[in-house]
Amino acid sequence: MGQFIFSADSHIREPNDLFTGGLPKSLQYGALQGTRKDGYIYTMAGEKVLHRLRLGDAAADIGRSARLGASDLTLRRQDMEADGIDGEICFPSLGLMLYFLKEPELELASAQLYNDWNNRFFSPHLDTFVRCGVLPVRRQEDTLAELKRIAGLGFTAAMLPVAIPGDVATYNSESWDPVFALAAELKVVLVFHTGTGLETFVAERGPGAAVINYSRQMNDGINTVMTLVAGGVLDRNPGAQICVIESGASWLAALAERMDEVYHAHNYYVQPKLSLLPSEIIRRQVKVSFQHDRACIMARAVTGTQALMFASDYPHMEGTFPHTRAVVSKLFDGIDISEQEKADILGGNAARLFRLARPEFAAAAA
Ligand code: MN
Repeated sequence: MGQFIFSADSHIREPNDLFTGGLPKSLQYGALQGTRKDGYIYTMAGEKVLHRLRLGDAAADIGRSARLGASDLTLRRQDMEADGIDGEICFPSLGLMLYFLKEPELELASAQLYNDWNNRFFSPHLDTFVRCGVLPVRRQEDTLAELKRIAGLGFTAAMLPVAIPGDVATYNSESWDPVFALAAELKVVLVFHTGTGLETFVAERGPGAAVINYSRQMNDGINTVMTLVAGGVLDRNPGAQICVIESGASWLAALAERMDEVYHAHNYYVQPKLSLLPSEIIRRQVKVSFQHDRACIMARAVTGTQALMFASDYPHMEGTFPHTRAVVSKLFDGIDISEQEKADILGGNAARLFRLARPEFAAAAA
């Protein structure tokens, strides 16, 4: 039997009428949906275009027109089998745009629709797929209530945006403490997927834009971890576990050491004081997903091996599908690392963190 491989970053495409069909008439003006036109995929909230993506040449890549498993679990399992993936946590597609929705009622109702659909869709398949809910953030009573509700359904993970929208407090604010305390109590991992909450994914349009816009996704992770650690939210809520998804992972070691250096060097000005060094808080509570960057493996003495989770980003074009086996086979080349650590990075860390419902990962879940 081969190694158990879990993707800590995959996506499911919701039914396109999930929101248009599910929201009451009064909230239809902001229903998320996708449309294809003139070689682009448009993501809309009602009539408003939120995001436009030029369709890539998927056929050239995988010999057929689409990732067949984007919305169909039977076909998805076939792609997983071919690609050597044994389990996944699935994040939304349309639902990634939740934080564009400015009105609290609309944000909450959309989150609930997504979470209920996700629950129905994945619940018969929990030995392979981990459910991840989305949390509204415009009103904290909604955040707390929805977190509690989905934890009651058995969800082990829930998304918050990397970029805080509107006038919601930033992550270095004490006002986030109740959310992180509740997540710790309910053992729900808080997930920060790159791009969520950003005004635009396309910050640069000039030379190098494609490389710049995608590389800067690691800034999402740096900003999120930096504010949560420096502001004390993670320190005050030591049971809260967070993970940063699709921002790469190798920056985490550099950030941990940099924050320690600054914490000491500027100690006179540091407020709040932390009960542990930033790097120790990171080791205790921060996990990251990655596809290709290997410096994180070489620097695992700083972050801990348990921080690192391999991911495919299926079905996205920039993910490792359909070449995951080849990527995995070279991931540890030239790195002195035990078989146990390899197994943890490729699947064990994520399966235990997200409490994948398989007996071999159950012991650590308690
Ligand atoms: Mn992703």
